[in-house]
Amino acid sequence: MKNKRFLIVLAAFVFAAAVFAVAWSRRPAAEPVPGARKLKIVTTLFPLYDMAGAIGAGKAEVSLLLLPGVEPHSYEPKPGDIVRINEADIFIYTGGSMEPWAEDLIKSVSNKGLTVLNAGLGVTLMRGTGTGPAEPENAPDPHIWLDLDNAGVMAGNILAALENKDPSNKDLYQRAAAAYRGRLAALDTAYKTGLSACRTKEIIYGGHYAFGYLARRYGLKYLAAQGLSPDSEPTARDLVALVEQVKKDKIKFVFYEELTSPRIAEAITGETGAKMLLLNAAHNVSRDQMERGVSFFDILQSDLDNLREGLECR
Ligand SMILES: [Zn+2]
Repeated sequence: MKNKRFLIVLAAFVFAAAVFAVAWSRRPAAEPVPGARKLKIVTTLFPLYDMAGAIGAGKAEVSLLLLPGVEPHSYEPKPGDIVRINEADIFIYTGGSMEPWAEDLIKSVSNKGLTVLNAGLGVTLMRGTGTGPAEPENAPDPHIWLDLDNAGVMAGNILAALENKDPSNKDLYQRAAAAYRGRLAALDTAYKTGLSACRTKEIIYGGHYAFGYLARRYGLKYLAAQGLSPDSEPTARDLVALVEQVKKDKIKFVFYEELTSPRIAEAITGETGAKMLLLNAAHNVSRDQMERGVSFFDILQSDLDNLREGLECR
């Protein structure tokens, strides 16, 4: 796997070098961005795409590296990705434990004017305690954006990168970031209020362990069928444990994951008669959602609606 990735990256590097030999002659590497041109920003995951788009306030052309629907944990970069990053002013990823492939990828980039931003800088990674069925023990949980304080830190890091790259629009970026953080705070309040009086506090998740931060923030218990990445198979023992939990606590709803087959949640509901509800971790969006312009806030609001229904909140 590593060798294959290296060869792909090497081939892409050679190709990109040829392409950019031409481009460089027209565009000096470290030139500040002129006021008239839009900043080019490439992001890895959907929350970053949403934040950079909002904070860029029409002065940035933001794109998502992953195609809609693509699973990000085990993503294999394509040669075209390096070409896109080489054309960008800023490349933003979530962090080394979310996209280890991104840190490999940027080693092959020849664009010396590129700002590479780890948006998770300053966020304290949560570590699982290994107490739930598939809860990882002591491994860092990369789903940092699902704690809205962390999302605020990420938005702040993105703001700093934009200000630095394009100081002429500093005021605009600052206002947009303040508005974005205001919306995060309002959503956080909606979660706190909306989840304060529920019959059950248990999220039974037929997907991978993505909601540890959210559960901790709102005092919920989170039981997932798979570990930190969706390519980990659930064990028969964990599935039995989840089915037992649903029966024991008379849980009426089991949550399922976005952009993948809900077969695990189906297996649990098939055994228990519970119903299914979506709980979307917003790693990426579908093509249809991208076309409809769905935002990070839309996804988290739907999650809150489903949590309120599923946990039987008043
Ligand atoms: Zn994940």
